[in-house]
Amino acid sequence: NRLVSGDSLQEDLQLGVDIRPRRLDEYIGQDQVKKNLQVFIQAALQRREALDHVLFHGFPGLGKTTLAYIIANEMGAGIKVTSGPVIERPGDLAAILTGLQVGDVLFIDEIHRLNHVVEEILYPAMEDFQLDLVIGQGPGARSVKMDLPPFTLVGATTRAGLLTPPLRDRFGVMLRLDYYSPEQLVTIIQRAARVFNIKIDDDGAMELGRRSRGTPRIANRLLRRVRDFSEVGGHAVISREVADQALRMLNVDPLGLDEMDRKILLTLMEKFQGGPIGLETLSTAVCEEKNTLEDVYEPFLIQSGFLMRTPRGRVATPLAYEHFGLPVRVNTQQ
Ligand code: ADP
Repeated sequence: NRLVSGDSLQEDLQLGVDIRPRRLDEYIGQDQVKKNLQVFIQAALQRREALDHVLFHGFPGLGKTTLAYIIANEMGAGIKVTSGPVIERPGDLAAILTGLQVGDVLFIDEIHRLNHVVEEILYPAMEDFQLDLVIGQGPGARSVKMDLPPFTLVGATTRAGLLTPPLRDRFGVMLRLDYYSPEQLVTIIQRAARVFNIKIDDDGAMELGRRSRGTPRIANRLLRRVRDFSEVGGHAVISREVADQALRMLNVDPLGLDEMDRKILLTLMEKFQGGPIGLETLSTAVCEEKNTLEDVYEPFLIQSGFLMRTPRGRVATPLAYEHFGLPVRVNTQQ
């Protein structure tokens, strides 16, 4: 339940209000992705065909699910939403596929986590809109073939590299979402503030934008948390000072780093002379699992230019020293 996690937390699900933009022109940022989608959607509408299958990849909370809903909305189509780990057996996927209407969008989140038996059902479904299912086992097993309505599969993944080549090749469109700029996050924060009836001024929104790790889901979550502080403190508007005070209390630093991020960097700089040190050593030193370090903590630290992965191990960058006000140590052993 990390406050600055891009993953969806229980508190995000309990919002009660859907703050997702519904149309492409309400979707902030990711301009290249939007431009491409606009063309593909328009072309598919003109030809009266289902849109080609689309794969979105990018870190959690950057807006992949939102785009799937927007595609369905712009195509005037229905949408079914599921995720890789939820579809356990081929029959589960067959039930979903046979329930689709012509032109529907099927959104599969975390598509890299589909098991391979299920995945094989997807190949002919994506390519020829054919369901190819084996029913029963042993000598009594029989194969069932069925036509499916043309549909659009929208897949989302945080780990494009884990997709098998046959699945990846069946997507006509592959689009990568990037982190958002603080300015783009300001627009997203102001939009959410209007929906939730929260008063925040431009500087307050900028302070939140800078500390949201380039991620809309985190921006929206921090906005709601800061609102609590603001209301309890009796402030009429969330100003820069109010936002700053609240985020300090929440342990989110000026660039959005939390306690664990700081622990990783400080351990590296103060105990290991800035590295290089192996993942194993770092993991033991900060009492965190290797996989969690690699998948959850490192990506943002690397993207922000605080940490490098080198062949000899993890290294703290001069930017990391500057951020913590420590004398820069240039390591010549890298
Ligand atoms: P993902 O599927 O990549 O994890 P989501 O689509 O669920 O991310 O987005 C997380 C939250 O961030 C949503 O509640 C949505 O309101 C908001 N959001 C994401 N991208 C945008 C955007 N470009 N403009 C406005 N809000 C956005």
